[in-house]
Amino acid sequence: MKSDILYIVVPCYNEEEVLNETTKQLKKKIEKLVNEKIISDKSRVMYVNDGSRDNTWSIIEKISKNEKYFTGISLSRNRGHQNALLGGLMTAKKYADVIISMDADLQDDINAIDEMLEKYYEGFEIVYGVRSARKKDTWFKRTTAEGFYKFMSLMGVDIVFNHADYRLASKNVLNHLEEFNEVNLFLRGIFPLIGYKTDIVYYERNERFAGESKYPLKKMLNFAWDGITSFSVKPIRFILSFGMILFIISFICLILFVILDLVNYKILTIRTLISLICTTTGLQTIFIGIIGEYIGKTYNETKRRPRYIISHNLNEVKEDGKI
Ligand code: UDP
Ligand code: MG
Repeated sequence: MKSDILYIVVPCYNEEEVLNETTKQLKKKIEKLVNEKIISDKSRVMYVNDGSRDNTWSIIEKISKNEKYFTGISLSRNRGHQNALLGGLMTAKKYADVIISMDADLQDDINAIDEMLEKYYEGFEIVYGVRSARKKDTWFKRTTAEGFYKFMSLMGVDIVFNHADYRLASKNVLNHLEEFNEVNLFLRGIFPLIGYKTDIVYYERNERFAGESKYPLKKMLNFAWDGITSFSVKPIRFILSFGMILFIISFICLILFVILDLVNYKILTIRTLISLICTTTGLQTIFIGIIGEYIGKTYNETKRRPRYIISHNLNEVKEDGKI
């Protein structure tokens, strides 16, 4: 069996509380895989510091210095989970044959890595980690998260249900990912577009063992909204259909009212009229807002600004043998 080089990419934002434990567990896992010759001993865990405000980066530097299988890069500022992940993937693919991405808090069971690698050696180029149960998530997190997946597919976005960013991807797939230049990044929607042979591995999602979720409700709603507007024009189509239906109904009413008025029949009071005007104005404003959202997205895309800037790459130093 061939032992490919595996890189595990882990974005970290203010994760000082979890990094040492995560390192302990990933070290055990990676040593086991190397000993069993499933992966090469050039394999690494690559932490991506996403402009953390705490000691995350100095901890990563220390771990990278002391541990053979660990390395890290740092972004020049906080760019958000998706950009940090992309930065990590694009850097890691220079050194690796296959890459797994996961969160720093180990909520995603690291034992699924073995099965992911098995599938990879069977010829699957993308393996999605899917949460089989969310027993340990709070009711609120579970309901909002599952609602998110359902709403996304309703809006016509092709995503894998209950899959977050715990996935394996081959170097080949990541080379294609590089061709997707969008600034409004929603990786879960992009990977299914890349294609190739894909499979799924199920795992149980654990609780965060320390620290807090960096995805409060507001960020989650933003994320869902970004996902929908980056991948689907259904909301705009909905506006068009709604406008047409409203127009037809109003037109029929108009003819009816004119006829009734002609026979001097009083049917609308002033307060009904005012609320009718306000409702339609409100609706129009919402719709203009939705269209504006797409224009805003287009504006951001046309500027082609870099999605991340890497300020430090410990791996370069490490691979040059300077450490
Ligand atoms: N994260 C990041 N940049 C951010 C926010 C989060 O790199 O701006 C990382 C975070 O450190 C973690 C992962 O993204 O490794 C997922 O975040 P979290 O666990 O807080 O999200 P949840 O699991 O609660 O959805
Ligand atoms: Mg988490």
